Amino acid sequence: MAESETDRRSSSRHARTRDPLSIDEKISRTLKDLEATTSEAVAELFAEVTAAMESERQALIEGGAADERERSQKAKELRDRWLARKGGLVSMIDENWLKPASKELKPGVGRAFNELRRRAAALETDRLIQDVPVRGGAAALPQQATLKFGAGVPSLKITEAATDLTLPGFRRPLGSIHPVTQVMREIEEIFLGLGFAIESGPEIESVYYNFDALNIPETHPARDDWDTLYVNSETVLRTHTSPVQIRAMEKHGAPLYIICPGKAYRHDNPDSTHATMFHQVEGLAVDTDISFADLKGTLDYFARKFFGDKIKTNFTPSFFPFTEPSGELSISCVFCGGEGCRVCKESGWVEVMGCGMVHPEVLRHGGIDPDRYSGWAFGLGVERFAMMKYDINDIQLFQQGDVRFLEQF
Ligand SMILES: [Zn+2]
Repeated sequence: MAESETDRRSSSRHARTRDPLSIDEKISRTLKDLEATTSEAVAELFAEVTAAMESERQALIEGGAADERERSQKAKELRDRWLARKGGLVSMIDENWLKPASKELKPGVGRAFNELRRRAAALETDRLIQDVPVRGGAAALPQQATLKFGAGVPSLKITEAATDLTLPGFRRPLGSIHPVTQVMREIEEIFLGLGFAIESGPEIESVYYNFDALNIPETHPARDDWDTLYVNSETVLRTHTSPVQIRAMEKHGAPLYIICPGKAYRHDNPDSTHATMFHQVEGLAVDTDISFADLKGTLDYFARKFFGDKIKTNFTPSFFPFTEPSGELSISCVFCGGEGCRVCKESGWVEVMGCGMVHPEVLRHGGIDPDRYSGWAFGLGVERFAMMKYDINDIQLFQQGDVRFLEQF
């Protein structure tokens, strides 16, 4: 093996100090025996050990092996010499240098030891085998590489096997952002652009915030066991993101412009349009002089931003306990352009979200004076938006984790 810079450095040091000890002999003594009482001396010892380890590894790599059996054997020998649990050089350094080190030196010795152990991982048999060429294959060319060592240890130049850059690399499959997350972010972007802020709240929610504060009396069918997943009689998995509206009103007061994206849970039988867990985005605007015209204008703008300028919007009356009056927003069918098709059930319109003016009782529960302030709110299902945007006909696909489905987005 050609003399490397490392060897030259250490041999000149040996000549200067007439140091008679081999690296093995040094490792079998304590720091005290070696008279290494300063952190500089310790750093120098670790630098020597590291250089010795690297040069032995390099010798193996440059020497190569006649066949795979010899390669395995040589790799195992070098591995055992350094890494064997009993009698390996690394564990001897632990025993002889680290454990008996003085209180002052110990932190530095510990750091240098950890760094050595990290680098010694390159001597694990399976890694060595990858680096050692079997003769007949392409020869590994030595190449100079500068490596930085840990704090206090001078940097050394060592030789490293050249990497053959013409070999194909390892390809790791790239993931993508889940379509539900993509759609949720798109909705958030539009409302952030309108000056709304994002609010979040707990998914395990009290009955008060999930129902009572939203003007949903105990007699309302949504409070039936069929729809709600109860944790206990006072706690539920929130059936909608609306409780966040109450929490935000309590926290910030009026005026308030927020959206609440998040998960909701229902005790529904899974089918192509129902899932036990799904995502919602709710919006709430509270200010003085807020009217239904503000609601219509904002949601019309949002629907065009999301589904494209060509769509038309239409509001129809509806009922929700937490809004008065309540409405539903429909858009002209994105699949047939309003002509009528399977998706829109031949009507040309698709209902996309519920909305309305916030019920005065709900404002009051949020600590806001309904005589001074008014507000509007909406709630939409993110999966439903994603299904319409990407023409997906089964909500279950979002949660099945099938890569063939997910990699299309
Ligand atoms: Zn249609």
